[in-house]
Amino acid sequence: MNLDIEPLEFNGNWNLSPSIENTDHIQINEKYGLFINGKFIDPNSGKYFPSINPSNETKLALIAEANTKDIDLAVKSARNAYNDVWSKMAPNERGKYIFRIARIIQEKAKELAIIESLDGGKPIRESRDIDIPLAAAHFFYYAGWADKLNFAFPNRKPKSMGVVGQIIPWNFPLMMAAWKIAPALATGNTVVLKPAESTSITALKLAEIIQEAELPNGVVNIVTGAASTGELIVNHNDIDKIAFTGSTTVGKSIMKSILGSSKKSTMELGGKAANIVFDDAPLDQAVEGIVNGIYFNQGHVCCAGSRLLIQESVNEIFIRKLKDRIQSLILGDPLDKNTDIGAINSKSQLDTINKYIDLGKKEGAKIFQLNCQIPNKGFWCAPTLFTNVSQSHTIAQEEIFGPVLAIQTFRTTKEAIEKANNTPYGLSAGVWTDKGSKIFNLTSKLQAGVIWANTYNKFDPTSPFGGYKESGYGREGGLHGLEAYLNLE
Ligand code: NAP
Ligand code: MG
Repeated sequence: MNLDIEPLEFNGNWNLSPSIENTDHIQINEKYGLFINGKFIDPNSGKYFPSINPSNETKLALIAEANTKDIDLAVKSARNAYNDVWSKMAPNERGKYIFRIARIIQEKAKELAIIESLDGGKPIRESRDIDIPLAAAHFFYYAGWADKLNFAFPNRKPKSMGVVGQIIPWNFPLMMAAWKIAPALATGNTVVLKPAESTSITALKLAEIIQEAELPNGVVNIVTGAASTGELIVNHNDIDKIAFTGSTTVGKSIMKSILGSSKKSTMELGGKAANIVFDDAPLDQAVEGIVNGIYFNQGHVCCAGSRLLIQESVNEIFIRKLKDRIQSLILGDPLDKNTDIGAINSKSQLDTINKYIDLGKKEGAKIFQLNCQIPNKGFWCAPTLFTNVSQSHTIAQEEIFGPVLAIQTFRTTKEAIEKANNTPYGLSAGVWTDKGSKIFNLTSKLQAGVIWANTYNKFDPTSPFGGYKESGYGREGGLHGLEAYLNLE
């Protein structure tokens, strides 16, 4: 192997002219109420909290905080809509509403993408090309299933569950709302959904879209607030199912709360995915996949490839190529079309990431970071990698949820599998090799719900997504995603 390649002489700053998305046409209200029974209403609590732009810490809007009375009202409205309208409606009619929501999301795609980047800090390239198109695609896909449920499950009788409570995280705000709401509606359920505290705005824009689509009142209710609002949904006694996406810690506490109740549940939890690079892999392609898997969304991805296992014979050259690529990444304004790395979603998430970076250094791993200018305001973390990492290091074991990569090496396939599986999580993994047989061998032995081969972070509404072990249970997407919202007799 020829290791004699020159590293890029590069100071980390491309001299590209700024290409900032125009926000003049973006409509964000000063204040948002709760979306209950088809209307935005003031919260009983009388309380509001700010949603801020994490790239400059300016306030974008005030968001209502729902209390016990509000959640009760939302659940009642969902129950009435279920009993009186939605469960009685012909399935093809239900499908028409869902198609309408999908089309309006497409029409408003640009506005939604910009708001997603303003409120959550992700680069516009990500929200424009991934989050919003996938949100629309999910509604389109599940709209098509609404009148075909009997064909989806031959010889079984699919029955809706009733009222579902849905709680989502901040990393893909609109997309997660779509992953939850679209299959629930297609299967005839009604919904009470809570977005994450730091990224409620696109869920509230979705509520406006739902109004525009003239979905019958109460079929979808969107209630905002913090963890305590989520707990009120979990503990409400007239909810039939809880669909949760978020951290494993909160997922476990929700499971305890509903234990002994008749509530069904699905849990999409954390991850610590390994990308495994063999010496016969297309190395440049693999570098691109690793960068996409851990850096392009600031590592705010449950299935982020946060561990990298490199076959020892190509370790040196691969790390060199990876460092060169990291040095060419552009960190900055999420609304700039050239930006690769946006802002960290919140101050508290930045603190968590920094805590892990300090731990990595303390435990003896060797750090490398993009050498770039960090903006004065907002929450930022330069793409980071660690070498000299051992299996017992905290950064190799725990989910960081930031742009931090822990790198280890391996000699044999067996060792790679053992290392990859040596974590409490099992959400995803990546395999990079020229040999199809190696891919099949690994996919049957890796404990992960999703395994990508020679690519990473590819999503499609027709493919099921979900975890093993402490990454949760139940699937979203595809036929499996329908099953999660049905009682099959
Ligand atoms: P989180 O802290 O678990 O919060 C997720 C949601 O639950 C938020 O809406 C949160 O509200 C709410 N919540 C917090 N405590 C609650 C409680 N005790 N009862 C009910 N609801 C509660 O997770 P996060 O920090 O937002 O998101 C990051 C995590 O999500 C990571 O672990 C990531 O891996 C995981 N994730 C998994 C998937 C998947 O498909 N497997 C997809 C995306 C993300 P507040 O925001 O208002 O606190
Ligand atoms: Mg925000």
